[in-house]
Parts: sequence; structure tokens; C-alpha cells
Amino acid sequence: MQEAREAGVRGCRIEVRGTVQGVGFRPWVYRIARELGIAGRVRNDPSGVLIDAFADPQALERFREALRRAPAPAEVQALSWREIAPEPARTFSIEASSDAAERRISIPPDLATCPDCVREISDPGDRRAGYPFTNCTACGPRFTIATDVPYDRAATAMRSFTLCAACAREYGDPLDRRFHAEPNACPHCGPRLRAMDEHARDLEGDALGTAARALCGGRIVAVKGIGGFHLACDATSGPAVRRLRERKRRDEKPFAVMVRTLEDAQRFADLTVAEARLLASPQAPILLARRKPDTCLADEVAPRNSLVGLLLAYTPLHHLLLARVGRPLVMTSGNRSEEPIAYRDADALARLRGIADVFLLHDREIVTPCEDSVVRFVAGRPVLLRRSRGYVPRPVRLAGPVRRPVLACGGQLKNTFCLAAGDMAVLGPHIGDLDSPESLQALDEAIGRMTRFLAISPQIVAHDLHPDYASTRYAMGRKEPSKIAVQHHHAHVASALAERGLEGPVLGVAYDGIGYGLDGTAWGGELLLANASRFERIATLRPLRLPGGEQAIRQVWRLSAALLDDAFDGDPPLGSIPLFASVPPARLALVRQMASRGVSSPLAHGVGRLFDAVGALVSGRTVARYEGQIALEWDVAADPEEGGRYSFAIDRARIPWELDLRAMVRELVGDLRAGHPPAAISAKFHNTLAVATSALVRAASTRHGHLPVVLTGGCFQNARLAGSIADDLSPRFDVLLHGSVPPGDGGLALGQALVADAVARGGS
Ligand code: ZN
Ligand code: ZN
Ligand code: FE
Repeated sequence: MQEAREAGVRGCRIEVRGTVQGVGFRPWVYRIARELGIAGRVRNDPSGVLIDAFADPQALERFREALRRAPAPAEVQALSWREIAPEPARTFSIEASSDAAERRISIPPDLATCPDCVREISDPGDRRAGYPFTNCTACGPRFTIATDVPYDRAATAMRSFTLCAACAREYGDPLDRRFHAEPNACPHCGPRLRAMDEHARDLEGDALGTAARALCGGRIVAVKGIGGFHLACDATSGPAVRRLRERKRRDEKPFAVMVRTLEDAQRFADLTVAEARLLASPQAPILLARRKPDTCLADEVAPRNSLVGLLLAYTPLHHLLLARVGRPLVMTSGNRSEEPIAYRDADALARLRGIADVFLLHDREIVTPCEDSVVRFVAGRPVLLRRSRGYVPRPVRLAGPVRRPVLACGGQLKNTFCLAAGDMAVLGPHIGDLDSPESLQALDEAIGRMTRFLAISPQIVAHDLHPDYASTRYAMGRKEPSKIAVQHHHAHVASALAERGLEGPVLGVAYDGIGYGLDGTAWGGELLLANASRFERIATLRPLRLPGGEQAIRQVWRLSAALLDDAFDGDPPLGSIPLFASVPPARLALVRQMASRGVSSPLAHGVGRLFDAVGALVSGRTVARYEGQIALEWDVAADPEEGGRYSFAIDRARIPWELDLRAMVRELVGDLRAGHPPAAISAKFHNTLAVATSALVRAASTRHGHLPVVLTGGCFQNARLAGSIADDLSPRFDVLLHGSVPPGDGGLALGQALVADAVARGGS
């Protein structure tokens, strides 16, 4: 009898690839193996999970089928199997592995609270009812609480909390959904909330209730979250949001709004199915979505902007708080503008004093700060504009291994760094703009932790070509002897190569605000023929004078004046353009004189600057409130039905070729003077830029052969521009947009790492 049954047993080795580590995948495999009567074992291996399974063929077939349907946050991308010799195993087990390569990726990203845990905290009969630190193998903090590798409770901020008997039982039971959930906790043994006032004095009583009452009363509460502090206020109250703007010194940049459920989110924005799915994903990013008119959201949340940044509650604390206040909350980074996010209690109490009225704190330490990620759909697909919480430290797999470990220090704005070793590149969390010594220190600390976590000792340090970037100076100050400078737009194109696992060459369209060029001028409207090790500048945008340099980036009317002087050969019809009515004539004259004489007026090729100049002309706004405002917002203003465009020229006598948009500017001014609506003008401007870019790509491919095209640089946060170019070039060209790596400077470091490796090995 026994013999007969065993005769039917087959062996099967299954390799699973995808998001399968640190997300409760192995316990889940264990459970379904038990259910299906499969013997054998499961373990992590460097590239995924490996399963040896023994059972009759039908059971094995059912097992493989079940494996493909792993529950979120696990995601099976590929599953392959082969027959192996059967073993007389009777049970199924989870095997530990101590592979060095596994250590490298053993820390998973932070995961939003799962539906099961949400149910528990809202169930009055559950022992975790109302408990703000509930989590399980499918959810909870990970990266932000890790102090060391391998990822294990003793190497997290949870080491100071001793599991109670009930929690220990869950933690040790392979059939429990908290089996090896490292931050497992309950009201008896886990972290606790506390509330403090602005003077760091304890507020007695129910901390959550105190914070909720303050929010409902229009006050500002600093909430300690997963990756740092948020500043929260009632998103439906104009006075509350205005107060937050004043105290935080942030005048127009939109605030993100947190809601409890997808249905709530749909009240404020029109969401596609894919957008809704991403919003509710375990990564729980901020989604830039089309704002619905006439909602209860205060205008001050995103002034003069038809997009709204929405995110769902992603910790039990958020769920409980939102349930109490019963309204959407502004949730913005806990900092003053331009500073790094506060994440330690003492630091928050000091730095957010004068902004927050109440502090909602807890005693689970945040080890590594990690801000919310930001995503927007472009051409129907999600593009990360800021890649941080939920995604970091998930690696990007490269087409081939780097020869020596590389640290890439990123750019000046929206800084992130990158560590590459083997065939993996890990982008660090969003650090932000490196204008303050505090940000630079945050960068240094983050690099220190990540090199430790990944056990990588960099041998090559990559940095931007710009000598004055704080990240460049930081790179120069590091002890590693090998430093490699990487041209900004080459790095952008290479980041797209790295993300897509391509070797090149490609035609890279790199459009952004500014990046240091090989000739010392500011590039940013570039068409490059590039692979990882080298590039050729095929074409560029006719440069614009920036009268007053940096000043022109904020006072965008200066750019508009320079643009018009160029387009109308020094005699533009300024009097008929409303923008200039608010500029004192003497200043206008001075600025135009500076530009025409080239005094303090550097040349800039950046498409971002063109957006600023044209956007200011059409909108009549003299000042850009934050970097990239117009390039990011103006596409939304564009009339989707408008198919017209303006004229342009490509000067192919020059090397590189020059895209000349002076004719466009003249025609656009004509439309403006004729009183055409801004939406139509914006659409025609976008269409012109898209058609001109496609024309450049076609001309380049005639000369250099048919190559894939990548669209990269901060301007490709603009959905209309990216979408139109992609439409125009497809299907004849393979057009690659960014997805999991930001097109802007937040993705720069990945490209720097790839280029530095290629250069170091002397590739061609
Ligand atoms: Zn959970
Ligand atoms: Zn407990
Ligand atoms: Fe850039």
C-alpha cells in the first residue's frame, strides 16, 4: 500500500522570480503546500525563491498553478520548473539560507497596511482593535526600521520590544499570517502613541483623540509615520491649509491629500482602473490625478492646479486618525521648505516648533527616513516622479554586472544616490534639494547606511560634471580614489538604458531644466546618440539667454522677454502682452539690455526654460513658485481636442543641429494678441514641440540608423509631451519611457553609475 502510493511521487524544482522576498511569500508557499499535500522545501535564492516539491503529478500541477496566484504584495513574474529525482520527504519546510547575495536584498521596502490588518484594527472584538502598530507578513514597516542585515527583528527598531506570549505564538507559527513578521506587535507588547503640545509637554489622555480634535479644530498636527514626520491639517479648511502654507513657508506647491479608502479618493479625482489599483497598492504612493471640480477640498491645497496629489492611508495610525476626523487630511513632509524631512522625535519637536500645534509621536524609532513616493500616469502607464517609500531599496537589475562597485552621488535637485554592485543597482531614498548643510548630511548618512545594508564598498565614485553641485563636492571629498564625472544628460539617457536593461546605442531625447554641458553652457534640450560609455550630441534646442542667471529661473518674465527679443529680432510687441504690464518699464529695459549684451546672461538650451518662458507669456504669471512648476502643470491646461501646431525649423548646417522655435514664438504671440484661449495655445505649443522632436529623431535615424528612442529628463513628467512624441514615433520606432525610475533628476544617479562603470572599464 505504502509502496504503491510512493510509486506515483514525482520531484519538481520550481524557480520563482518577481517580488517574492520579505513579503511573506515563503510562509504562503508553506501553507498552500500543506493544503495540497506537497512535501519538500522552500528557500530564498539570490534571484528569487527556489522550491523542491514532491507529490503525485496532479498535485504538483495544482501546486504550480496556485503559485502563480500569489497574493499582494508578492508578485510572481516568472515561474519555471524541471523534474528532479523524488525524495522520500513527508513534510514541507521553510529553509533558512545564508547566501551572501541574498543578504544584499534581504531588506524589503515598507508596505502599506493590508486589508486583513485594517479589518482587525476596526473590529472591536479583536485583540488589536484600535492598535496603531498592527502589521503582518504582508504589510508594515521594513526598510525604515532596519538597523542591520539580514533583516530580522533583532536588527530592527523593534528589538527593544519583547514579544508577548500571544505575539510570539503568531511569530513562530508557519500557518499564522504573522509568521516571522519582524515588526509584529500588539497593545500589550508593542509601541505606543503619545501626544505633545508645541512646547514638547505631554498631553494627557487619549493621544489619537487629542490629535483628531486638534485637526478638526483647524490646527496643525505633526504625525510620526513610517519614514518620517508629516504635517497634517484639515484639507477641507481653507484657513487651516493657509496657516500651514504660511508656517511652512511654501506658497503654491501643491500639498498631498490623504484619504482612507479608494471610494474617498474617487470623490476628489477621476481615476482610471490602473490609477486606482496603484493608489491602493502596497507601495501606496502619492498619485497625481486629475482633480474633480467642486469638491470639498480647499482651493489652497493645490492653488491654480488641476491636478491633485492623493494617497491612501498606509499605516494603521493613518487609518485610525482618518476614521476619527472623518475628512481628508493634508499630509505633507515634516520640514520647513528645502530642509530634509524630520524623522527623530527630538529633531521634529525642535524643527517643527512653530509649525505644528500638536505632535503625535510614538516610541518605535524611524531608523532611515524615507519620504512618500510620487507617481503620475503618462501615456497610460505609471511613471515614478519620486521613487522613495515603498520602492526603496528594491534593486534595479542591470543588463550585465558592473565590474567594480560604484557609488553615484546624483544631482543637485531632487537628489538620490545609487549603489551598484554585481548586476544590481539600488537607488537610495529621496533626499531632496542639496541646498542646505542638513541635506548634505542626510545624504551622507543615507549612503553610509545603505553601503552597510548592502555590504558594498564602493570603489568608483560617480558624480555630475557640474563642478559646483553640492553632490559633486561631496563626491570629491570622499576617500575612494577613483572619481568619474558624468555629463548630466548622458546620465539621464543611461538611467533609461539601465531601467530597461538595454545596452544601447539609442537615440536619447533628454529634455530638462538645466544640466552642465561639455562646453560649460547649460544644456537641456538634447538629442543624444548614446550607449553607456559615450555619447554624441546630435541636436539641441536653440539656446535662450537667462538674464540674471539664477534669478531668471524664478522670475520667469525675464525668460519671456529674452525669448521674445530673440524671436522678433530685438523688436517684440511687448506693449500688447499682458505679462509685461506688471513689470516696471525700467526693469524690463534693463533686463533686455543685459540679455542683448550678454551681460550676466548665460545661454541655456533647456526645454524646461522654454516651458517657463512660454508658460509665463500665456498665463501672465511673472514668477514660478517652485522648480518645474510650469512644465509639470501646463500640460493639464492644454486642450486635448486642439490638433493644430506652430512652425519650426531645424538648422542642420550646425553641429549639433539646432531646433529653432522662433517662428513658433512669433505665431504664438499672434494667437495671444488675437485673444485665443490659453488652453488652445498650450496645446499647439505642446504639439509643436512633439512634432519637432519627432522630426529630429527621424532625421537622426536617417543618418545613424534605426535605433530605439528613449525619452528622459524632468520635462517628461509632462504627460502630454511624452504621450504625443510616443504616439508620433510609434510604431515605427521603439519608444521607451521611464516607469520605475524617475525621468527627472531623481533617477540621475542610476545613469551615473552605469556610465561610470562603462567608462572605468574603458568600453566603447
Ligand atoms: Zn497586514
Ligand atoms: Zn503582543
Ligand atoms: Fe536633469
